[in-house]
Amino acid sequence: MMRQYELVERVAAYNPQVDEELLNRAYVYAMQKHGAQTRASGDPYFSHPLEVAAILTDLRLDDSSIAVALLHDTLEDTAATRDEIDQLFGASIGRLVEGVTKLQRLELASREEQQAENLRKLLLAVAEDIRVLLVKLADRLHNMRTIEHVPEEKRARIAEETMDIYAPLAGRMGMQGIRDELEDLSFRVLNPEAYGAVSDKLHALREKSGPLVEIVQQDLTARLAKEGINAIIRGRLKSPYSIFSKTQRKSIGFEQLSDVFGFRVQVENEEDCYRALGVVHRAWPMVPGRFKDYISTPKQNEYRSIHTTIIGPRQQRVELQIRTDEMERVAEYGIAAHPLYKDGIADDRDRLAAESSAYAWLRQTVEQIAHGDAPEEFLEHTKLELFQDQVFCFSPKGRLIALPRGATPIDFAYAVHTDIGDTCIGARVNGQLAPLGQPLQNGDEVEIIRSDAQRPPAAWEAIVVTGKARAAIRRASRSQTRRQYAALGRHTLERRFEQAGKSLNDEALSAVLGKLNMNETDDLLVAVGRSELSPQAVLKEAYPDYREERVSVADGAAEEGWTASGRSSLKFRFPMAEIAGDEESAIPIRGFDADIPVRFAPEGGAVPGDRIVGILTSGEGITIYPIHSPRLSEFDDEPERWVDVRWDISENSTERFPARIRVSALNEPGTLAAIAETIGSADGNIDNLRMLGRGRDFTEIEIDLEVWNLKHLNRIVTALREKRVMSRVERVNG
Ligand code: MN
Repeated sequence: MMRQYELVERVAAYNPQVDEELLNRAYVYAMQKHGAQTRASGDPYFSHPLEVAAILTDLRLDDSSIAVALLHDTLEDTAATRDEIDQLFGASIGRLVEGVTKLQRLELASREEQQAENLRKLLLAVAEDIRVLLVKLADRLHNMRTIEHVPEEKRARIAEETMDIYAPLAGRMGMQGIRDELEDLSFRVLNPEAYGAVSDKLHALREKSGPLVEIVQQDLTARLAKEGINAIIRGRLKSPYSIFSKTQRKSIGFEQLSDVFGFRVQVENEEDCYRALGVVHRAWPMVPGRFKDYISTPKQNEYRSIHTTIIGPRQQRVELQIRTDEMERVAEYGIAAHPLYKDGIADDRDRLAAESSAYAWLRQTVEQIAHGDAPEEFLEHTKLELFQDQVFCFSPKGRLIALPRGATPIDFAYAVHTDIGDTCIGARVNGQLAPLGQPLQNGDEVEIIRSDAQRPPAAWEAIVVTGKARAAIRRASRSQTRRQYAALGRHTLERRFEQAGKSLNDEALSAVLGKLNMNETDDLLVAVGRSELSPQAVLKEAYPDYREERVSVADGAAEEGWTASGRSSLKFRFPMAEIAGDEESAIPIRGFDADIPVRFAPEGGAVPGDRIVGILTSGEGITIYPIHSPRLSEFDDEPERWVDVRWDISENSTERFPARIRVSALNEPGTLAAIAETIGSADGNIDNLRMLGRGRDFTEIEIDLEVWNLKHLNRIVTALREKRVMSRVERVNG
């Protein structure tokens, strides 16, 4: 295991101003905290954070990153606390350690569908500081290097995750070296047969081609030196995974794969890159179509290099990458090559310049990761905004929940499950009680406190940001309101029945449902509770023979309301003034040609005087339904479409509104004419008339009317009912 002083020396080698004291403290603290813990290999656990720190010294990262690497598993796996780390190492290191810890939980998170995509986004979103990602990548790299000690059944999952998430991440951050290694290590676990086969062939090829690498190296060095170009040349066989994926991608066999040798030619400056290229192309024939100049046109991740393939000695195809030392650093370390996280930039102006260009790099990188590399994914640009607008939080069991930015614990609760939202009374965010309205942050762990007695308060609607939560809250408060009205309705009915000396029971109620044009007892109770149906009417339907000594209909409801017929004394009261007065916030409905686009329930219409609700209908504005309309239940699951509306129609308006009635008329000559005449003389318009079905004695007819208001409609209905040929006349609530 690396000693304390060895680690410090590695950092001091690239950073003379190394904060030895900080590194020593982190070393000792982590070692003590991990104590006697061991890894699967049997090594002391502390060897792991130490190796992770060592990987980061290869990337030449700053002291803080090295310290974070040493501490990265203390929060998750030991008794260490964030407070303690803050006190000992400062809040900025504490924040970074916590950032890595949050990412750590991803490995515990269940692998749901699309989890990989979420994880990739989360990595970026949580890693507000790129150093968190760098530590995480180094952590994964070391875990992959030692994966043979992990129980076999776990290896595939870890390797798959590495292949899906961490290797592409490293690649897109421009860290080719780490990406290649992660891919190779994963490949070995995921497809041991293929790995073995490719390795064997590479081995055989190396035997066969003999000292090809050395020959090319010497030859090229000599030729370049002759031109006065000082170059470092490194040759190698490509990695098994890169060979394998190429054979897969191009569906060719290994034998057809010719360029398995790759060389890096590192020169001193850009000009030498082009001069070296000239030397190479004069010495050996180039393979057409393989030349690429990423120096004049860098890749998005700032990768710069010249690529060419030649037919080299022994007719072997050889791929060459020609670049400067600086380009090599960028290619190898990507984002980590940037000086932002390096200490020792003395001059403030230099530091500022470095930071702003590093920031640009970071932003670009994040965009790239969000977009993917392929140009055809350019269209996905909008996705970037989408994901920047998101926060990612955990349930206590490690489930990952993506929410829009600004989302609260209430949104979180509803995102997990509607029942959890409905019964939510409080929340712990990262272990601390938190206000339910407090916006969540990336990586927060949210635990919802519930009570079965809880019902979501309507006020939550103004707090939440997700449609799902808002819908659920509205639905809950709507059904709560219904419950209240139903209870009130039952109470009212009980009193009225009691006065009359009759008993109220559910059988009696369900017996009258049909006559009252209701489907369920609950609807009836709600209607009574809302004063839309008088208890008197229910009583009379239930006991048709009952005669009251003293009928008192207060407040002129009989005149204003719908007097159903002489046969039944059903009364509706439509308190227009009450609606308009009570619901200031409701949208005023002023007819067809008013300020907002409006249409009326396609099957039944709605007329002024009806109690109404509006349903937002895509492309058509608001559709107005009478509150009794059975169609409304279709929108129960979409409460966000419900809008408060109220009539705002002048008494003198000449605008007509649609209403549908259904009549049952005797099969007699002249019946239709009688209907038309009755409606006409009551000043109603017939918009449409359909024969629904013809029985032996009666014909069912549906009539679409145009009327001024409910009073007008009632007058027409009453007039029709008085005709001998009508057996039944009723309104259709569409
Ligand atoms: Mn670790």
